[in-house]
Amino acid sequence: MNHLQSLIAMFQNHQWFAFLFIIGLIGFVVYRIADWLQIGFVKTFPQPEDLKKLPEAVYESKRRRKMSRAYKSFWKGIANWLIQVLITVLAIPMVVVFLFKQGITYGWIYIILIAFGYILNLLFSKYFSLWTPASLRTDTSKTSQNVLSKGNLIFHAWGIISWSGPAYLFWSYYETNGWVGSIFSMILSQTIQLLIFIYTIKKSAIPYQEYDGLSKEFKKSLQKYLQDQGLRDDEVGVLENSKMGPNAFATGLFGYKQIILTDELIKGYKDKGTDFVLKLGDNTIEAIVAHEMGHLKNHHIEKSIAIGTFISGLVTVGVYHLFSSNPTSYFFFEQSTTHQILLYWGQAIFNLMLLYPLTFFMMTRAQSNEYEADSYMLETNGCKNGQDFFHQMRHIAPVSNHPFWHSCNMTHPDPYVREVRMIEWTKEHCK
Ligand SMILES: [Zn+2]
Repeated sequence: MNHLQSLIAMFQNHQWFAFLFIIGLIGFVVYRIADWLQIGFVKTFPQPEDLKKLPEAVYESKRRRKMSRAYKSFWKGIANWLIQVLITVLAIPMVVVFLFKQGITYGWIYIILIAFGYILNLLFSKYFSLWTPASLRTDTSKTSQNVLSKGNLIFHAWGIISWSGPAYLFWSYYETNGWVGSIFSMILSQTIQLLIFIYTIKKSAIPYQEYDGLSKEFKKSLQKYLQDQGLRDDEVGVLENSKMGPNAFATGLFGYKQIILTDELIKGYKDKGTDFVLKLGDNTIEAIVAHEMGHLKNHHIEKSIAIGTFISGLVTVGVYHLFSSNPTSYFFFEQSTTHQILLYWGQAIFNLMLLYPLTFFMMTRAQSNEYEADSYMLETNGCKNGQDFFHQMRHIAPVSNHPFWHSCNMTHPDPYVREVRMIEWTKEHCK
């Protein structure tokens, strides 16, 4: 049988595979349509009249750069997805069969696949991830972390080992029922990862009361707000040299929590290539803390982890059951192929096919969380609502996104929409 025939046979034997493939394909096409809409939208986006300090030439160059990014994202998206489909659907089975014919045992092939997945993850982690669990932080813009940095190497190693180790063991002992163990390990590994993250961030943050760059008046005012909210002074801190730009985020697992502001947010941030400096007043910084408080009080981090775990759990159950048949019914695997290898392959296929649908779902949820956090800030500290922050952010990024592209790709609502909401609120509630 040639490869095409075995592919057709596989679609006939396992119809869910065809279903998964169609879901994946729809997601991919929808995202490319969004990219295409974005190109047209950016092309004709007029310069906002309310951004007084933004010279026309700067605006034009920002718009043109955004255009070229949108073009690149369209073509990159196509290339990446096709490469991933080829690697996952074709290359993995071919490598397995090839190595087996060289006399390598399936145990070793499994280890080789893990190493192969690890390297792929490192190389492509900006675009996709095979095993990396969802990011545990909220409110971070794209971190420009180096691919070969120690943190990144450990993060991906942890991701792949905490998946493949349990999968190997639990299938050996319990076969199809091993999914229970795999899900349990996943929850354990994510909890440990989050606790380590909170612990590390707490250790490196300077409590705001001890940070020199903040005024006495600010510290006094924030202290009062935190007391009302039941948060301790050391649970709000400043992170130096974070390389995250002007940023803030909240993280926590029930009582163990932390709000972080980067020093660039406080000291000011110069927009590269222009004269503009983002510099926030005390009230605006307090508004940002109140927004982060909203994430903590609404338990957004815990909820995101619960939903992420639930979805990964469903996928785990699916992988264990759908890849439990005779190995020869999957593409061109040999009869003797171990099921651990099928699980590895199955997980990779699921991840690839669910990549876009899940990204869309996660972005929708993230944006609704941000809206909720803004609402909390307005309800608890509304006249210090940070409209200035959104206005200044728009000086740095003055070109809006196409609404559909934005809902497909962004974790936060459009800053212009948020700014307008704050202005309206001020008009109605503050003197
Ligand atoms: Zn937020």
